[in-house]
Amino acid sequence: MAIYNLGSINADYFYRVPHLPGPGETLAATDFTRGLGGKGANMSVAAARAAARVVHIGAVGPDGVWARDRLTEFGVDTRHIAQLPDTPTGHAIINVDDHGENAIVLLPGANHAIPETTLAAALSEASPGDTLLFQNETTLQRQAVEMARNLGLYIAYAAAPFDVAATEEVLPYLDFLILNEVEASQLSEETGKDPAALGVKDVVVTLGSKGARWIHDGQARDFPALPVTPVDTTGAGDTFTGYALAARDRGFPMEQALTLASRAAALMVTRVGTADVIPDLKEVTEARF
Ligand code: ATP
Repeated sequence: MAIYNLGSINADYFYRVPHLPGPGETLAATDFTRGLGGKGANMSVAAARAAARVVHIGAVGPDGVWARDRLTEFGVDTRHIAQLPDTPTGHAIINVDDHGENAIVLLPGANHAIPETTLAAALSEASPGDTLLFQNETTLQRQAVEMARNLGLYIAYAAAPFDVAATEEVLPYLDFLILNEVEASQLSEETGKDPAALGVKDVVVTLGSKGARWIHDGQARDFPALPVTPVDTTGAGDTFTGYALAARDRGFPMEQALTLASRAAALMVTRVGTADVIPDLKEVTEARF
């Protein structure tokens, strides 16, 4: 089995600054780091670390070869990441001040220019029962779900960043929907429907330090958060999603998949960073909480 992840790839540029710059101000940063990010890349890394076979479908520009190589190093199949000649790689410029306050500029770049032929070529290799995973940081969602349905794939979607129109468009195709508490209440407000009433077989609402709730056939089951001291919650949701779908793809029942995902996400909040620090399966299974 395999997970085909139509996903964003971002270069995250972190600048440490004494304060967030104001209009017209030029400010010297005191530190700089570059990391692999984007919800799609994070989920691919998490699923690969959870021992699934992961095929990433996406695009980078000439400045993003290192990001694709990084995904390859994590064991992700990167053959279907298009290399675009004239479009910059998606990136985020993240200024963080001494109080931990941040200001972010995000350019979707190549994430919004993934060729449809790249998507079609990747999915032509998929077999019934494989998983299509996607979120809202790329384009081509509609095309992806239509192809996936015809191929008999399990269709999984993380409704983030929140976009009600994008979610409503793909809702009828979904087998699995995951969203955080804020996204779940926004979706309820805008559609007038509770997540349990959306007609999706499996819905998971992540609740931060309160854990996660799985709704299946109208029945809710809670997965409490594990007791850790959080230092950075960035990427917790993506780690949870990647782990849950990887375990399911590897044949685990959903209860076990979500338990493993809760453990992986709990470890993740004890670490600073995103894709580069997602724990591997051994760490997750051996961790004591
Ligand atoms: P992010 O956008 O920061 O990646 P998210 O908002 O998508 O996260 P959350 O609901 O905050 O997702 O967290 C996802 C999962 O991570 C939770 O369901 C839980 O299992 C785990 N988690 C988050 N915060 C904590 C915490 N403080 N302690 C233990 N586990 C946590």
